[in-house]
Amino acid sequence: HSKMRTLIAEADINRRVHELANDIRRDHPDGVHLIGVLTGAFIFLADLGRAIGGDTTIDFIAVSSYGKGATSSGQVQLLKDLDAPIEGRDVIIVEDIVDTGLTLTYLQEMLRARAPRRVRTACLLSKPSRRKVDVAVDYVGFSIEDHFVVGYGLDHAERHRVLTSIGVVEP
Ligand code: IMP
Repeated sequence: HSKMRTLIAEADINRRVHELANDIRRDHPDGVHLIGVLTGAFIFLADLGRAIGGDTTIDFIAVSSYGKGATSSGQVQLLKDLDAPIEGRDVIIVEDIVDTGLTLTYLQEMLRARAPRRVRTACLLSKPSRRKVDVAVDYVGFSIEDHFVVGYGLDHAERHRVLTSIGVVEP
């Protein structure tokens, strides 16, 4: 069994999610359409959406990087498309973590091609030292060092998603 070290406590996540929600509400007085990237963003989207409140709508998209290891190979495959069109809408891509930035770059380009009014991005976590492409993220929860993290929706081989804090798995 591997050990777990807490990196970000539940109360700190909660506080930061509410700060991001306040920023998003201020920037989108007419409401916003949140697009959660499955599966990792499902808890972040649930908490963020409820904290934004008001005229918030949600949809989900699923993508997969080829090669299911801990590192991204850079090729992205669409597994589940949105249910609703986004033309003319103010959308925010809601991601769990930006690592190399390849997944987010793919998503931003794909969604921009559908002519929304605006595409912004909210990520709970960012690992800037791992970036391979310079991708714009409008709302970042926490910038972290290059650790493989789990919890609050994030997994390692599908485990630990329901952990309420964010932890680092240590060998
Ligand atoms: P990117 O395309 O390299 O930016 O990878 C983004 C995706 O890789 C995220 O949406 C996660 O699914 C996964 N990922 C990257 N780093 C971690 C991590 O530390 N823990 C869990 N998943 C991660």
